[in-house]
Amino acid sequence: MKINKNFLDLEASYLFSTVGRKAREFIAAHPDADVIKLSIGDVTRPLCPAVIDAMHKAVDEMADEKTFRGYPPDYGYDFILDAILQHDYIGRGISLQKDEIFLSDGAKSDCGNIGDIFSVDNTVAICDPVYPVYIDTNIMNGRGKNIIIMPCGEETGFLPELPSDTARVADIIYLCFPNNPTGAVASKAYLKKWVDYANAHHSLILFDSAYEAFITEPDIPRSIYEIEGAKTCAIELRSFSKTAGFTGVRCGYTVVPHDLVFEGTELNALWSRRQSTKFNGVSYITQRAAEAVYSAEGQKQIQENLSYYRENARLIYEGVTAAGFKAFGGKNSPYVWMKIPEGFTSWSFFDELLEKCQVVGTPGSGFGKKGEGYLRLTGFGNRERTLEALERIKKYFASRL
Ligand code: PLP
Repeated sequence: MKINKNFLDLEASYLFSTVGRKAREFIAAHPDADVIKLSIGDVTRPLCPAVIDAMHKAVDEMADEKTFRGYPPDYGYDFILDAILQHDYIGRGISLQKDEIFLSDGAKSDCGNIGDIFSVDNTVAICDPVYPVYIDTNIMNGRGKNIIIMPCGEETGFLPELPSDTARVADIIYLCFPNNPTGAVASKAYLKKWVDYANAHHSLILFDSAYEAFITEPDIPRSIYEIEGAKTCAIELRSFSKTAGFTGVRCGYTVVPHDLVFEGTELNALWSRRQSTKFNGVSYITQRAAEAVYSAEGQKQIQENLSYYRENARLIYEGVTAAGFKAFGGKNSPYVWMKIPEGFTSWSFFDELLEKCQVVGTPGSGFGKKGEGYLRLTGFGNRERTLEALERIKKYFASRL
């Protein structure tokens, strides 16, 4: 028996465990300290009432022989696929077909699993800093040596630059907007350049729009398919996690248009074969919960939670800016990407913030080399605690920066 040696090429991911350990050690050494976590990348508001009602009703259906449901369809029940199609696409002027949408248990699985349908020989362009799943899953699949890192620093507004004419062609390009961790968003004109690049080189864009629900400005695209030409070069990954608080419920979907044809084969056919073989569908209760997100009450109620997080992010941006820091994001995004002062590394500033303000952030270097010099703060926490953290930051740093 031989193991998949690609796994040995993975770098151990200590980021969140180290953040947690350091916070715990600090609390153990300072039992009276009131530590506030602005590091949290998970939602904290409860599911909205429309979703809860739908789940209760679905549970009751499962208790009755006449309405009980067994295995769900591999790609999702019609009721949820219709709701997604209508609300997220057709209602926004994007024409797609129902069999181009694949329901799943979340975007993390999909962005990892999608690699199954591509050859290991492809080059893969990935941003730095980045959501680590893109890199790790490509290493697991044997494409580790083919990763092209795209630096995303302040000088380019945290957006990756397109490869030059002489650079290696990127066969697969991962893009995520609004971005985790930088909070950067992409304009239509910018995304059009990538779509044109991908179509010209017959490359594929994997567009992660897990945070699209945070977009408030009408000109910022929420879907890659708002860009002309995207259907021949892009797969879109979406999630109910941040949109509707489903991080613990688990539901997302992936769009694979029929127009994506590579080497004479539709990617839609490969993905549907992959999913029907390795995935047995999303639970009926979860699908009814997701359907409720699209009801009139559901839409109103999720907006209340989203507004709460958005306002937290705005307050964080304003608060740290008022304290003298340079910051990015916090608009159309739950994330604020704070530049740390000269003389600190991401980790030494993490320690300073914990020590002096009892506030926990996430060191930017944990998201890639280009994240060094930054700290990620998030709007997913409690409002009063967020305000309290900002008061402490202002009080301590305003006179020092
Ligand atoms: N994509 C990005 C950029 C994320 O930040 C996350 C979660 O934090 C995900 C995908 C995963 O989402 P899900 O909960 O749907 O698996």
